[in-house]
Amino acid sequence: MAEEKIIEDIIILGTGPAGLSAALYAARAELNPLILTGTEIGGQAALTDRIENYPGFPEGVGGAELADLFQKNAERFGARLEHDAATLVDLSQRPFKVKTYSNEYFAKTIILSTGASSNKMNVAGEKEFTGRGVSYCATCDGWFFKEKKVAVIGGGDSALEEAIFLTRFATSVTIIHRRDALRAGAILQNRAKENPKIHFVWDTVVTEIKGVDGVEALRLQNVKDGMESEMQVNGVFVFIGHTPNTDLFKGQIDLDEKGFVVVDNRLRTNIPGVFAAGEVCDPHYRQVVTSAGMGAAAAIEATRFLEND
Ligand code: NAP
Repeated sequence: MAEEKIIEDIIILGTGPAGLSAALYAARAELNPLILTGTEIGGQAALTDRIENYPGFPEGVGGAELADLFQKNAERFGARLEHDAATLVDLSQRPFKVKTYSNEYFAKTIILSTGASSNKMNVAGEKEFTGRGVSYCATCDGWFFKEKKVAVIGGGDSALEEAIFLTRFATSVTIIHRRDALRAGAILQNRAKENPKIHFVWDTVVTEIKGVDGVEALRLQNVKDGMESEMQVNGVFVFIGHTPNTDLFKGQIDLDEKGFVVVDNRLRTNIPGVFAAGEVCDPHYRQVVTSAGMGAAAAIEATRFLEND
């Protein structure tokens, strides 16, 4: 006899703050949600050393610790986490189909919360030295640069926050920014500027990462006068923004020109039954608290959708 196809009420893709909050709300609505974790459990938040602006934690909370609390909270109400990643998503008909490395799932509703990934500089040596001096995560790799010199690329909140974190290990941290004004918020700017280990190189971009077994130097170019120079460093940390993880949905749902999933003010995509939450559809706020809020809202919308289906 052919095996009966199980159709889930809801599948959630991703376990960042959006996915795990959606899981909590869907579980409490008794939808028995299935969450496919993807490859980065906890999302970008879990890679952050300390989160100081998630309400309820006046002393701050570790990113990995918060992700763990989110997960436990969702699981307490019955959310099922499957440690697998979607390789194909078919939104062309209901039930929607999700293929993973090891399975095939069907669902009446889907919440897309696949987050965003670090942008690359796309310069010579970047790919070659990734994991050997080039990093996109100070929390993960900072320790390897004890008593070393590192550069941080970017001028946003991430660059400054991670640069400050890296001063725990490195002897000096040079922030290289393509303009002469930072994008980061005032508190982080002040903290970075007051830190004696942090130095700034303005109006400058990296054109090449050089080394033999690991990173040894950066080739730099001043964008105003074109002057080239070289800087000796043992490591380079790149924080120049993120790109939404929407490759699986391209050609199936509406994306904006930068690839973010387009949602209305109730987190509905253009396909009935498909919702999105968090950085995959948010080019504006990108905070743990806003992503978590969007996840909760998307799950409430999915619950209502199923009630009226
Ligand atoms: P971001 O705000 O987009 O900043 C990216 C930085 O990289 C900008 O300074 C940008 O320069 C630079 N950049 C972009 N492309 C570049 C390239 N190809 N080469 C060189 N530099 C390049 O990204 P983010 O810092 O990751 O922050 C993302 C969001 O998360 C923001 O909304 C931020 O507020 C939030 N966030 C908040 C916190 C916090 O509240 N503690 C911490 C981390 C992140 P320009 O300035 O010239 O564009």
